[in-house]
Amino acid sequence: MEESLEIREAAIRHCRQLSLRWGDAVPYAELARGFPYKGAWIKLVGPQGVFKPKELTDGPLTLLSTLASSYEDEHLEGDEVLYDYAPRTREHENDGLKRIAASGRKVILLKQVKAKPRPEYMVFAPVAMLGFDDAARKVQLSLIGAQAEAAGIPAPVPAPFSKAYAETVVKARLHQAHFRRQTLAAYQERCCVCELRERPLLDAAHIVPDRLPEGVPTIRNGLAMCPTHHRAYDQAILLVTEDYRVEVRGDRLAHGESDATRRMLLDFHGRALWLPKEEALRPDPELLRKKIELAA
Ligand SMILES: [Zn+2]
Repeated sequence: MEESLEIREAAIRHCRQLSLRWGDAVPYAELARGFPYKGAWIKLVGPQGVFKPKELTDGPLTLLSTLASSYEDEHLEGDEVLYDYAPRTREHENDGLKRIAASGRKVILLKQVKAKPRPEYMVFAPVAMLGFDDAARKVQLSLIGAQAEAAGIPAPVPAPFSKAYAETVVKARLHQAHFRRQTLAAYQERCCVCELRERPLLDAAHIVPDRLPEGVPTIRNGLAMCPTHHRAYDQAILLVTEDYRVEVRGDRLAHGESDATRRMLLDFHGRALWLPKEEALRPDPELLRKKIELAA
């Protein structure tokens, strides 16, 4: 196989592994390390948005996007997103993208989901380029391949089932990424129960689950939680009262007498929740009440 194609495929495989390991919050430091190829490391990102490592001769490899302020600003159309051309001073990069698209090769989209310091990215790989709008200076990207492969469906996948499925997954991923970013910021990156402050270990938990109509991904339906307390909350072993106290349902525990269960769960019973300073960001008591009803 031609070496450029081999390198491109190695990069795509590496990016898919990063997604598996970090979910939708890959730290920039991981991207900056590059990817391994035949015993050496090749760069994955550069100072500009469109990047081509020097080892590649066929054209650009990655497209780095900046942070959208909210889900509404994502300019998402189904499973397709628009990406801005490189500026006119770097027109050769846009020409490179067109060459890659014409040869049917894929690129990698790195979508920023958390600002500095320590920015985080959602990784989409492989991404196909569907079209170029020279007037609007935007390239249209399809995220469908990245979704299909993430779900274990080999690409190319039969339409239209997979297209609808990919749309749903892309939207859910982006919604979830914004929800997590906003919720963790509001709670200053702490679990609201145990105050664990390790961002990679924190989730944005839904108060009312997202399978119900009230289960919207907004801050007032969210709680920052560590994985243990998130799972306990989802299973209604742990609840949060309307006056923001932790309630642990000892009767739902199989080993309530054990030290670990006491330390990790029962000791928090009756304690006040760690809350956002701003009242408008705190959980909606109505939703907390609904969650308790559901748990009954
Ligand atoms: Zn916790």
